[in-house]
Amino acid sequence: MQITANKVVTIDYTLTDEQGQVIDSSQGRDPLAYLHGFNNIIPGLESALEGRSSGDSLNVVVAPGEAYGERDDALVQSVSRELFEDAEQLEVGMRFQSVSEQGVRLVTVVEVADDSVTVDSNHPLAGLTLNFDVTVVDVREASQEELEHGHVHGPEGHHHD
Ligand code: ZN
Repeated sequence: MQITANKVVTIDYTLTDEQGQVIDSSQGRDPLAYLHGFNNIIPGLESALEGRSSGDSLNVVVAPGEAYGERDDALVQSVSRELFEDAEQLEVGMRFQSVSEQGVRLVTVVEVADDSVTVDSNHPLAGLTLNFDVTVVDVREASQEELEHGHVHGPEGHHHD
């Protein structure tokens, strides 16, 4: 079966950066199942998979604009250290969820000073060209319920409580 909109696609993948460092991989765990055509995965990978079939292996290089976007220096901000008074410890590299009118964002601590903390709310993969080695494991029709919810159900997908 070919990958087109409204199909549930299961893939094995390894994601590396431009230096060949592994960022993420499905190796050693369950493959990833997603609903094709619903922006459940990054646009550059979704469009590369269009028309492929189970058993296909492909290498996809995705530019930042088709992945997690370019880095925005305006998203690196200095904030009062008092905002982190509930944190048990505060170190460069730690990540926090920040809730604002724009929704939930993951922020990374990039500098800690006596009374201020510099945080970066760019996506950790923003600005990176991503390299995917992908094997299509399975392609099936989505159920009506999956289409209504816009995501995959079942053992390898989304679970409802
Ligand atoms: Zn659902």
